[in-house]
Amino acid sequence: MNIDVREFTPQKIEFILENTTPAKANSLRRTLISEVPTLAAEDIKIYENSSIMTDEMLALRIGLTPLKTQIDEFELPENCECGGEGCSACKTTLILGGEGPTTLYSGDLKTEDGVEIPDKKIPLVKLYEGQEVILEAEAKLGKGKDHTKWQPAVACGYKGYPIQKITDECDNCGDCVEICPRNVYKLENNKLQIQNPEACSLCSLCVQECHTDAITVTDDKNKFIFNFETDESLTPTEITTKATEILTKKLQGFKETLNQ
Ligand code: SF4
Ligand code: SF4
Ligand SMILES: [Zn+2]
Repeated sequence: MNIDVREFTPQKIEFILENTTPAKANSLRRTLISEVPTLAAEDIKIYENSSIMTDEMLALRIGLTPLKTQIDEFELPENCECGGEGCSACKTTLILGGEGPTTLYSGDLKTEDGVEIPDKKIPLVKLYEGQEVILEAEAKLGKGKDHTKWQPAVACGYKGYPIQKITDECDNCGDCVEICPRNVYKLENNKLQIQNPEACSLCSLCVQECHTDAITVTDDKNKFIFNFETDESLTPTEITTKATEILTKKLQGFKETLNQ
């Protein structure tokens, strides 16, 4: 399996996955969205909340706030020596407090143990004159399969690498240029050209539109365009590296079980 990175920012990655199979590509996707651990607030004690927002909604907003940390800085509670009771190796504390009139943002959360708030502009609660919020939260590592607040990779998907082929039957009428929603084709000097093959969504509109049956569109079953965004709690590199480590470990465990 080869990975060729096409686009890379702190929030997004797109890469070509080659020499693989649909089953392996889907295993990577499922591992990315459900197995890579990240930090999120779990147990929240609300000491004061006289805002118009309910405690439950406030707790949900705190829980969904992305928290950035080094991926190996904390233990998963189920793997921790404390047995999941909660200790400095598997939990950290967040504090939020303020009096109205003001709006409390994610950046107002006070953190410890090197935890950072990557997006400080998320509004958490608006406080009017005389209203107050004081709360303390315990943040722990968790996985996306248990709750989306522990899912660092979002909008994760892939498609088979598109292949368009044009035969000599083409009379360069331009109908496929007009119908294609992804601008895959263009007419240059009255000659049809494929200008953007990877943008194809495999919708087959061009195939149906072509009056000479000159077009075929297929997808490569061993090559995929793969992409996902992050919630910025981890970088695309950390998420991809961790997912491949987890997948490799699971497959090794499966192989050992089969050999027993
Ligand atoms: S619609 Fe068919 S014939 Fe017309 S330009 Fe496209 S491929 Fe050629
Ligand atoms: S299959 Fe759809 S997206 Fe792909 S080239 Fe044809 S019309 Fe464009
Ligand atoms: Zn612990």
